[in-house]
Amino acid sequence: MNATDQFRKWLQTNPGPWFIGELRIEPGYFLLHRKDSPQDPLRQLGSSEEFLGVVRGNDLQSFRPLRGAPGLSRGWKWGPLPLETLVLALRWAYPTALASWSFWKEGRLELTDASTVARRQTGLYETLKELTQEDWQRAVFRICHKECLRIPLWSPATQEVHETETTLPLLCPEPCHYLLTRARGDQGPKPP
Ligand code: SF4
Repeated sequence: MNATDQFRKWLQTNPGPWFIGELRIEPGYFLLHRKDSPQDPLRQLGSSEEFLGVVRGNDLQSFRPLRGAPGLSRGWKWGPLPLETLVLALRWAYPTALASWSFWKEGRLELTDASTVARRQTGLYETLKELTQEDWQRAVFRICHKECLRIPLWSPATQEVHETETTLPLLCPEPCHYLLTRARGDQGPKPP
């Protein structure tokens, strides 16, 4: 079963509203911020461009370099949407989230640990090979746990997934580029 079919089945099996990251999906399908209520006086988005503006910016309207980071603006709604558009919108908001969830449900989600990702790095990022397991754990605690809504499943981060009937977990199968950049920045300049 592909991710869209699995997601459709999940929606049909569990009564809404449904939640993914900071998004709330109301039956119909309407998308809004999870802290907003459909009864609130919300601004109706009229196009995918407007929704992209929401997911690319934050409350301060600045660029969100990490899509899993909290900070989506509130006060809008988009819908009713056909399922295909809803799936697209979720891909824009949280890239790869539906596919990772679908593979995970089937026990097929491949995880890549931090040391494997570090070994692949070249050029400026080659120094990541020097990080110890403790260094990675510190980076995970400081960045993944504090700045991101995704659940890192890779070693040495490994976190438990608590799934509920109406919340689709945001899974992270391998260290992302944002984390690598931050971890590299923490290493500081190399002595001459
Ligand atoms: S590596 Fe960490 S910061 Fe990056 S997406 Fe995964 S959980 Fe978020």
